Amino acid sequence: MLGFWLLVGVAAAGWVFGLPRRWLLAALAAVWALIELSHLAGMGTTFGGSARGWLVAAGLAGLVLAYRGGLARLRARAAPAEAPAVPQAGMADTELDRYARHLVLREIGGPGQMRLREARVLVVGAGGLGAPVCLYLAAAGVGRITVADDDRVSLSNLQRQVIFRSDQRGEGKAQAASGAMRALNPHVAVTSLARRITDTDADLIARHDLVLDGTDSFAARDAINRACVAARVPLIAGAIAQWEGQVTLYDPARGGPCLSCLFPTAPAPGLAPPCAEAGVIGPLPGVVGSLMAMEAIKHLTGAGQGLRGRMLIFDGLYGESRMIGTARRPDCAVCGSGLARGVEPS
Ligand SMILES: [Zn+2]
Repeated sequence: MLGFWLLVGVAAAGWVFGLPRRWLLAALAAVWALIELSHLAGMGTTFGGSARGWLVAAGLAGLVLAYRGGLARLRARAAPAEAPAVPQAGMADTELDRYARHLVLREIGGPGQMRLREARVLVVGAGGLGAPVCLYLAAAGVGRITVADDDRVSLSNLQRQVIFRSDQRGEGKAQAASGAMRALNPHVAVTSLARRITDTDADLIARHDLVLDGTDSFAARDAINRACVAARVPLIAGAIAQWEGQVTLYDPARGGPCLSCLFPTAPAPGLAPPCAEAGVIGPLPGVVGSLMAMEAIKHLTGAGQGLRGRMLIFDGLYGESRMIGTARRPDCAVCGSGLARGVEPS
């Protein structure tokens, strides 16, 4: 029986000293090998049992381990590819303290903060607009945030993309933005996607409650709009150039227009140059991205009046803002015919 107690002793010592599972298994395997070899050499009587008995015991232990390993792998595969689940229980003291200024707001309060915590939001583009969007949504306690961007941080980004630091040049933007959000609020589950979102991403988008688009090309915006319309997920879009920016909510599934209702065709070449060519004043994405985050929080909590059917235009050079009405086009190539029957009145 000495062999048996030797194995129990090693297991107990491993448990007491907090040995990693892999090392503990290796130590147990080494003890077993010593017992088995001494039996084979005819010197195993001190350990008890027989060479065959110890072999069978090892086989049974191996089967149990293989079964448990297989089960763990199956569980991992069955778990959603999304971020880890947010606990549903009430807020911890640290959360009550962190969100105290939200909790006293009549329009947010405890129920609104819980809605934020349960929300799943996709942020497309971790650039100038994405920077304040990511920071404010994470700070506000939006429970699950996915950020998608295939670009890397460069020196010319740092004039306005305040989520990045100088020593992060060359890092993937999605990854770097995720790190900043986790550092800001550990209660938020963040997933980074180092790729673009295309019109084939309706399935990914359908796993979110809201999408925020801060990309800077018509092709990218058009693709994101198509995927959102297909998934029936509302889209808050911000756009900036030079000194002026705009924000709106595209939501054809609930009666609002989609991007294509307002801009059915791509602008003529040179008419809407990207920021790299036209330039952009540093704080402008801060203003417009913060407005996007504000609209997202309003949308998720139901506070105030959102921007469905309205577009807010901000002119930084003259310190002015104005609101224009937007409407759904029944003949829209993207949301017109496909959703005609399923539309709920707004
Ligand atoms: Zn449309």
